[in-house]
Amino acid sequence: MMLRTRLALAFALFAAVPLAAALWPVSHALSGALSTEHAARLDGAARALDGELARLAREAGTAVDELARSADAEALARELGTGALAPADAAPRAREWMEARGLDVLAVAEPDGRVVSSGHLPGRAGDVDAEVAALLATPPSRAAPHRVMRAGPDGVEPVLALVAWAPVPGDPLRVAGGLALGPERAARLAALTGGAIAIRAPDGALLADAAAPGSPASGGAPDLADRLSARLGALGTPVRSLALGPPDAPVATVEVRLASAGLARARLVVVATFLAALVAGVLAAAAVGAFLASRVTRPVEALRAAALRVAAGDLGARVEARATGEVAELVRAFNAMTADLAASRARLAQAERVAAWREVARRLAHEIKNPLTPIAMSVETLRDAHARARPDFGEIFDEGTRAIGEEVRRLKRIVDEFSRFARLPAPERTPVAPDELVQSVLALFPSAPAGVVVAREVEAGLPAVLADRDQVVQVLLNLVRNALDAMPGGGTLRVAARGEGSAVAFSVSDTGPGVRPEDRPRVFEPYFTTKEGGTGLGLAIAQRIAEEHGGTLELRSAPGEGATFTLTLPAVS
Ligand code: ADP
Repeated sequence: MMLRTRLALAFALFAAVPLAAALWPVSHALSGALSTEHAARLDGAARALDGELARLAREAGTAVDELARSADAEALARELGTGALAPADAAPRAREWMEARGLDVLAVAEPDGRVVSSGHLPGRAGDVDAEVAALLATPPSRAAPHRVMRAGPDGVEPVLALVAWAPVPGDPLRVAGGLALGPERAARLAALTGGAIAIRAPDGALLADAAAPGSPASGGAPDLADRLSARLGALGTPVRSLALGPPDAPVATVEVRLASAGLARARLVVVATFLAALVAGVLAAAAVGAFLASRVTRPVEALRAAALRVAAGDLGARVEARATGEVAELVRAFNAMTADLAASRARLAQAERVAAWREVARRLAHEIKNPLTPIAMSVETLRDAHARARPDFGEIFDEGTRAIGEEVRRLKRIVDEFSRFARLPAPERTPVAPDELVQSVLALFPSAPAGVVVAREVEAGLPAVLADRDQVVQVLLNLVRNALDAMPGGGTLRVAARGEGSAVAFSVSDTGPGVRPEDRPRVFEPYFTTKEGGTGLGLAIAQRIAEEHGGTLELRSAPGEGATFTLTLPAVS
């Protein structure tokens, strides 16, 4: 990762921690306050619900008590007792009383539960009602919740009612009645609490429900806002429920639920604000970090790029970036160092060139001296024979001049090769396909020498090389000639070309005797030859051409395993 990116990230991280530490408690406290407020409203609703249910129970108890003590009840008891009223005629009474006193269920019954008259279930008159019997078995007290069967428009159905009973004074008759917690009362409770009311049987079945406007759907599954609130935590249950009936065997539960969508939204706004503030703070810190870092890292990056160029051999690399303080000193020192390095490399190259030419001159003098001795000796012999007027002068003359001619021709070859070496023109480089170069070289040997097998291995899709076509062909030709010279008895000549990074490597291998380890460092020296009549300039010229192309020429050889010369040239990028 770049230094600039690392610094920007570090700034962002350093900003994130204190920002989160400062913002989190605030948003947490805000969110907690919202939750507490909601819980308090829910508790208030539950208290209102409890109070209203107690009031309804009192109302039912009072109505039943008053009815049992009324003149109507006393008259009914009397008329039934004297036989003035037939039981069938008594049946409709309860309905009239029930409607007159605002009760939802009412039965007049004997102590064993036999119904004399029923307002909510008229068909029961004359029968023993198990529910009534069970109720009358309990002491007469405040109204309690009971599930009662009631005749409705859709037939007989259960309803939850707050039921009380009272005896008719001086008579065995009992009056039992109460107020139903049906849909209308659920609606009243919903309006009172401002929430949604669900009345449920102990098994969870819904008996009645209603919702105040704007409250969540009553009794249904929690809505999205509820679920969100629950997920965000700290809201507590969005529902309060009251159990009705004895604690060990509740008859029903009444649930109240308040709208929590607003709360969830408020909490979301708090959390979103927290996150937005955190992200904005971190981004701002990262931007400041990146800006500050760029001032420091720009010269450092320029230094790094220049150092890489120097490592790749470009001593002309200079750092131009503006910098201050120690970095500026570093930039100045770097530029001075590369300038020194370039100057000393130039001096070194100059010295090497002088030394190399001196060596070439020494060897050339040696090469020229070699034929001069036989020439001088031949001339001496001829002069001597002529002075003595030797009879075989003709023969001596013939032999002497032939030897002189041979040595002169050798001298001429040496001088020709030398002038070629010395006057090697600068390469004119153009893109050339590697395949075409190999093809041109092999075309000069239309038929392989006896016993030699030629293998051509050129990789497909190689990039073109930037080269002086004639000079590279001359190098490859020289390598092929040397390889053939090394295999007079036959063998395999392999000419290959393959990609090597951003370069192409041409190799020429033979299966000859190879190069002796002690000769290996010398084969590229001018005038090093092991061949009768060789000039020893071929590989020296080849290596110079390779270097002037920005490439290399290398030898790999093990005695007895042939030799491989590899010419590597840069490819066109
Ligand atoms: P020349 O061919 O005139 O001798 P070169 O410079 O081409 O000059 O080669 C120098 C020497 O390198 C050769 O005399 C020979 O000893 C050695 N040499 C070159 N190529 C091979 C090869 N393929 N196998 C063995 N020796 C080789």
